[in-house]
Amino acid sequence: MRWTVGERPMKTPFQKQFVVGVDLGGTKILAAVYDQHHRLLAREKKSTKPELGPAGVMGRVAECVNETLAAAALPHAAVRGVGIGVPGMVEPQTGLVRVAPNLHWHDVPLGRLLKTRLKIPVTVLNDVQAGTLAVQQLGSGRKLRDFVCMFIGTGIGGGLVLRGEQYRGAAGLGGEIGHMVVVPDGGPKCGCGNRGCLEAVASRSAIVRRIIRGIEDDKRKSIVTDLCDGDLKRIRSRILAEAYREGDELVHEVLDEAADYIGIGAANLINILNPQAVILGGGLIEALGVKLMRRITNSARAHVIGAGADRVDIRDSGLGDDAGILGSALAARSFLGK
Ligand SMILES: [Zn+2]
Repeated sequence: MRWTVGERPMKTPFQKQFVVGVDLGGTKILAAVYDQHHRLLAREKKSTKPELGPAGVMGRVAECVNETLAAAALPHAAVRGVGIGVPGMVEPQTGLVRVAPNLHWHDVPLGRLLKTRLKIPVTVLNDVQAGTLAVQQLGSGRKLRDFVCMFIGTGIGGGLVLRGEQYRGAAGLGGEIGHMVVVPDGGPKCGCGNRGCLEAVASRSAIVRRIIRGIEDDKRKSIVTDLCDGDLKRIRSRILAEAYREGDELVHEVLDEAADYIGIGAANLINILNPQAVILGGGLIEALGVKLMRRITNSARAHVIGAGADRVDIRDSGLGDDAGILGSALAARSFLGK
């Protein structure tokens, strides 16, 4: 929803009640500005172009933030802070990005550089932590004390909320549910170097890889070829969803198998942690919705010990594609004080 200037609930333009949330991904940058009631005022998108290097990407992030503020007709002076979620290891206190593999970044002082550029305080956090925070505060985890988030997109990220707190383990590296091994010996190779990780069989990249192999190597017929005008590099979640809806055999085969694996991953988490719910988010889930959720739930039920079905509550995040930006905005607000 976009507010027009006349409707905006703003007493004076310089109250600094607005925050900007940014989701910096390997392929796209999303930015959105929210008011103090977490209402979305404007939202913009830009390609990341990681090949430009940290300085170039930072410039694009700044442009995306500036365009979002312009779309909401807000001056920089009205913004309390910018929160930015990054796909990698970060030091929230200093705003340093230690490693971000998709961006090919090492030791980039993102917080400091972006603050200099925007003249607005900047909070840096891990993107999955941002998404989990949004699910916890405003999504379907709102009333829960113990839950697990599984974000299925280009990769698979996980957030654990235990006794109401996000849990990241002894050195802050926990929650990497995408790298639990679900296929023994000989499973597909994962970006982390192992074989048979959940991410290697059920992330969107893994799904797209298998569909391309089916079409190119095994000469399978699929409407995906037409849906992306013959350019298989253009397969997105939206195209997968359409092909699934149309009953495409290859797409059904690959997505159903991915859903079964996600269910196995969820069952492992349920068996270990006994959460109140497993909450699914990310691009693939948002696009495929109900159909895939049902299959994932059935697979999880088949692998949960004890009183099986009762212990399996698998739900949607309730936040659509916005969990990342919303969580980054929430982090900026809580880090800087209400
Ligand atoms: Zn892995």
